[in-house]
Amino acid sequence: MASDRWRRQWDVPSDSNPAKSYVVSEDWEGNYACSCPAWTRHTPRRDCKHIRRVKEGQYLERGAPPLAPPTPTAPPRPAVPFPAKTPVPPDPFQELVDQYRL
Ligand SMILES: [Zn+2]
Repeated sequence: MASDRWRRQWDVPSDSNPAKSYVVSEDWEGNYACSCPAWTRHTPRRDCKHIRRVKEGQYLERGAPPLAPPTPTAPPRPAVPFPAKTPVPPDPFQELVDQYRL
């Protein structure tokens, strides 16, 4: 979550170890920081690849609403033609009933 120090934060997975992730933070002045060694050990500070990816919008900000899950689309139905309805021949007896109100 955003804190007093950081305006926004992102979890960016490490390339070398997928189980690990670094935290990219943006402070209220718009300066970015990353918890990876490439950033923390490099002076002068320069954007590491994690920060660049965050700036490219590749990751969701912490606390941001998750993207809506993709709606499952029903697999297309195979085009099975329905059997053509054969017209029901009129019932002669029913016709007589109607005609003579038997
Ligand atoms: Zn980094």
